[in-house]
Amino acid sequence: SYNFSAGPAKLPADVLKQVQAELLNWQNTGASVMELSHRGKEFDACAIEATNDLRDLLNVPENYKILFCQGGARAQFAAVPLNILANNTHADYINSGYWSQCAAKEAAKYCNVIEQNVVIKNAGITSIKPMSEWQLSDNSAYVHYCPNETIDGVEIFEQPDFADKIVVADLSSCILSQPIDVKRYGIIYAGAQKNIGPSGITIVIVREDLIGYAQKVLPSVLDYKILLDHDSMFNTPPTFAWYMSGLVFKWIKSLGGLSAMQQRNQAKAQLLYQFIDQSDFYRNTVAVNNRSIMNVTFLSPNEELDKKFVSEATQANIIGIKGHRIAGGMRASIYNAMEIEGVKYLIEFMQQFEKQNG
Ligand code: PLP
Repeated sequence: SYNFSAGPAKLPADVLKQVQAELLNWQNTGASVMELSHRGKEFDACAIEATNDLRDLLNVPENYKILFCQGGARAQFAAVPLNILANNTHADYINSGYWSQCAAKEAAKYCNVIEQNVVIKNAGITSIKPMSEWQLSDNSAYVHYCPNETIDGVEIFEQPDFADKIVVADLSSCILSQPIDVKRYGIIYAGAQKNIGPSGITIVIVREDLIGYAQKVLPSVLDYKILLDHDSMFNTPPTFAWYMSGLVFKWIKSLGGLSAMQQRNQAKAQLLYQFIDQSDFYRNTVAVNNRSIMNVTFLSPNEELDKKFVSEATQANIIGIKGHRIAGGMRASIYNAMEIEGVKYLIEFMQQFEKQNG
């Protein structure tokens, strides 16, 4: 089967095979990795190695700390303002779609959110205002945005450059899909369940000078300072997810790192968008410059046919192709682990479906 699920999502087959081989007896410990103490020397080494591999892959500068958290990206929607807003009350939130709007809504419980909609809809086509036109407030502590809107299939490829404004980014659905310049960000966070590993673990990369300004009400389990002081093991971490994330980091390295990932991902996305564009049956409603290379959304001529497409695709072993309920239509999530063969298979199915229903 070919799994286009938006998340939890397909993982590399090689990684799953390794997990299977190691499941009952990990590193000759006589136990499964998920049965061992997070304080033992074996898991400790595994956790450190994963952290170092992630640092290598993203080229994370020394003055940034990598934390492995829990609660998903949504916990970070609250953790961000609570961690860094002790000395200020205002934050800019860029609204580019569903998830960035959710982040703003959650943050508004803890600070004064200055929200700005950057979505442009023109003749049914969605695009995002260029960053040079985003208006940031002088008195805000940071600006938050989401480079890849998973539901809408909208991606912002520009790298942020806002003088000395702290940039916070939700990279849940695009982390490790392409190289980024970590120095441009104050905080990066991402749930693991799309491009990294199983759900239950969340990556936070934070510039060290931002740590230590938490509001008093911040729960300890979300406090970056406390997490840092305990090597992300203040409470029991999701050890199995951490271990698997480490295997995925190694897998990405073995394929050549993030530049190689970017090439792979661009090739897959291009193939699919090219097919959609030449078709009179399918359409994508995102401006070319903002088309996500991770989540490709498309529509058939009407909702009835969308339903039929999803149902017949499922029978043809295409998993998770239904669009999000608020967007409708279809969505092919083609994260790092999706091979180009999967995209080719999907296109063949789309061609057939078009022939029979066009
Ligand atoms: N942000 C983005 C961009 C997402 O795609 C998602 C989940 O799909 C979330 C946040 C929410 O993540 P979580 O379920 O880990 O809280």
